[in-house]
Parts: sequence; structure tokens; C-alpha cells
Amino acid sequence: MVNGMADIHNLHTLSAELLNKYNVNGPRYTSYPTALEFNQAFNNEEFEVAVGNSTSKNLSLYIHIPFCHSLCYYCGCNKIVTRHRHKADEYLDYLEKEISARAKLFAKHQVQQVHLGGGTPSYLSKLQFSRLVNKLKSAFAFKNEIEMSIEIDPREIEIDLLDHLKSLGFNRLSFGVQDVNLEVQEAINRVQDTDFLAQLLARAKELSFDSVNLDLIYGLPHQTETLFNNTLNKVIELNPDRISLFSYAHLPSRFAAQRKIKDHWLPSSNDKLKLMLNAIEFLTNQGYVAIGMDHFAKPNDELAIAQKQGELHRNFQGYTTQGECDLLGLGVSSISSVGNSFSQNYKQLREYYFAIDVYEDAIEKGLLLDRDDKIRGAVIKQLMCNFKLDKQHINTSLNIDFDAYFAEELAKLSPFIEDGLIDITNTEIVIKPQAKLLIRNIAMTFDAYMAKQLNQQRFSRVI
Ligand code: SF4
Repeated sequence: MVNGMADIHNLHTLSAELLNKYNVNGPRYTSYPTALEFNQAFNNEEFEVAVGNSTSKNLSLYIHIPFCHSLCYYCGCNKIVTRHRHKADEYLDYLEKEISARAKLFAKHQVQQVHLGGGTPSYLSKLQFSRLVNKLKSAFAFKNEIEMSIEIDPREIEIDLLDHLKSLGFNRLSFGVQDVNLEVQEAINRVQDTDFLAQLLARAKELSFDSVNLDLIYGLPHQTETLFNNTLNKVIELNPDRISLFSYAHLPSRFAAQRKIKDHWLPSSNDKLKLMLNAIEFLTNQGYVAIGMDHFAKPNDELAIAQKQGELHRNFQGYTTQGECDLLGLGVSSISSVGNSFSQNYKQLREYYFAIDVYEDAIEKGLLLDRDDKIRGAVIKQLMCNFKLDKQHINTSLNIDFDAYFAEELAKLSPFIEDGLIDITNTEIVIKPQAKLLIRNIAMTFDAYMAKQLNQQRFSRVI
């Protein structure tokens, strides 16, 4: 049997009624508490104390490059659309100041992971990439074998950028594809050449990059089953190691760019659901393993192996194999998770520049985690990554009596039991295969902040 087939059979047994019942608004839990709980009382002194108290000496760096060449209408990211490439030089001036100041705090840490995200990291020129990576390498202690990944927009780059990235130490690439059909691409203002994408992937193979990921989005304007099947077939031809399958969340009141997408261009919620189910079935039939929510990997990929072994983790960039690792975010709007703290830099470039000039740090807000946050965070992470929860593991690692601590939450899980979606025994909570799509709903039961946020309608639908 092809990996994942059993799950897929089960997915289709989940009735539309149940899918609709549980298709409510909810967070993606790249952190618990979510970024919505960060507050401006958190300051750099608390951050420094958190660094000093952290038990981890491993460091993951996230660097945010906010610039984009043009505006994709579906986008909800923090970005700056500009054709003035020199703006990236000024940005690097400030990043370098931030890197120098932060590196002093992390002198006892060793970097084991670097990720460039955006915006569009591939907005940078080769020279600018060299400048940034050399600065990072001279400021921080790097381990010998590290994971260096970057998000790439396959428009407006030359193929030999991949050669340059490889020479700087990058070993993982992620390309934004979304949909290969011209009418969809025109409606989202992101027209790109699939043949060129194929050339990029071929070059990445020649250069022996460890892993290539392609991002897809379902629920985009004009997407039909036939058109999205065309995208999926093309993607399989390209043979990536990983595929991310995201849901388009249409929230035009929050994201101005989305107002360019007319409501009537979008698939109905039932059609969108079908797009998702068909895509999951197609990808698993092709041999990809479904990793948590919306990620797929070849069975020999380290994410698939980590999940099988119950060792998958989750951070602000999604699923990862690197668990006990502090995360330092650098650049405008970036998020850090260090010791018992979460923090986020200013989201506006002007404020970020001002803060770096005056204070050498750009923290706008954050949160110190209390014991309850840590306990709930550990529970939610186990559920999101492994689709089950080992009560004994939580009891011993966090020194609690799970059934007593979560008596109220366990009672709230009864609708899921009645709907045949989960099993609860004395030792574990097991999410049944057909309920994997609803993992956010199940995790939400353990979220102490949920009621407040739901009232404010801050999240997108879980499916
Ligand atoms: S989707 Fe990516 S490339 Fe497009 S505007 Fe948003 S951040 Fe920029």
C-alpha cells in the first residue's frame, strides 16, 4: 500500500457535515501562546534575561527580507513592494547593526539552522547575499554541519543565483509556485513561467541541494478541479522533496491587496474543500507522506522520518526536526523564541530603523511564558506534530497529573469522541486518521486564550 493511503480512505469517510461543523476560525499554532498575546510591556532587558536563563545552547536564525518586486493579490505577509533595489542595501546596513548587537548576547550559542524568509529573500543581489551571510558567519559561531534554507520567488532571478547560494552554504530551497495556470496567475497578479521553474529545479538537483520544497495554494480565484489537477501533475513532474499545500484565506477587510480578488471569482467553500481533499489524495497516491497540517514529504525526507519517530517539532516557520533550539529573529517584523520568552520586532520599516539607531534592538512586543503557558504549549505541540498525546510523557516532563490538570478540557473533548474523531485512554489521546484535518480544532481545546480571540475573529478558518 502506498504510504498514507489508509488515511486518505478515512479522510473521505469524514462527512461534509462534520467538516462544516468543525470548519471554524482557529490559529495555526506555530507558537503557543500565539503572537496575538504578545504585549508591549515586554522589553529588551527581559529578552536579555531570557537569553541568559535559556537551557539551550543551540541557535536557529531567522532573517526577514521584506522587499518584493510586485504585489501578489492573495498576500497577507509583511512586505514592502518596491523596484528600488538600493533599499535593500540600506536594510542590510541596519540588519548588520542588529546582528552585531544580538551576537554579543548569544556568544555561548552555536548556530545550527539559518532561514531566510520574507517578503522575497531572493530580492537580494548576489553581492547582497554574500554581504549578509558573511556578516552572520563572522558574528555568530556556526556548527560545521548546518541547515541553511531560503524562500525563492522564481520570477526575476537568474538560474545562476542557485550556484551562488550553494557556494554560500545554502542547502535547502523553497519555491513559491501556488498555481501553474495562467488565468489563476493573472487573477492573483503572479504570472510565472513553469518551464523556467523546471530549469531551476533541474539546476538545484545538479548542485545537490539537500531538499527542494514547492509551495501551492488551493482556494485561489478561478481554480477548478481540472485546473488544480493540472498544477498537481506539473508539480509531480518536477519531483520536489517536499510540498506545502496552503489554504487561501480571503480576508479582504484585513489585507488590502485581497480586495483586488472579487468574491465571485473564488471557488465555493464546498468546491474548495474538494480541491483540498483531491490534492491530499493525489499527493499521497504519488507516494508523499502527509506531515501534520498542509505539508507533504517523500517518505525518506527527515520530516517524515521524525514524525514516524514522534520527534517532529514546530516553530514559527512551521514543522522542523530541530526541537531544543532557541530561535532568534532578525529584521523587521521577525519573531524570536528564546528560553521562556517570545518577542517580535517592529513591523514597520521606519520604526525598525529608528529603534536600531537608538537602542540597537527593535523589539516591539513579546511575552514571558508562565508555567501554564509552557504546559499547554507542550500539549498543543505534541498534538500538532504527532497526532497523539502521551499523558505519561507530559506528566513526567512537566511534573503534573494530566487528567487532573486538564479535567475541564478533557470534558470539552467529548463531542470529538462522540463524532468518532479521537480516542482517549488512561495513557493517551489519539487523533484518528480521518480527524487529522481537524487537528487545530482539537488543539484549540487546550488554548487558555481562545475564547477572547474567537470573539475578536482574528483567525482564518481551520480548513
Ligand atoms: S506572496 Fe510573497 S512575493 Fe507575493 S507579495 Fe507576498 S511576500 Fe511578496
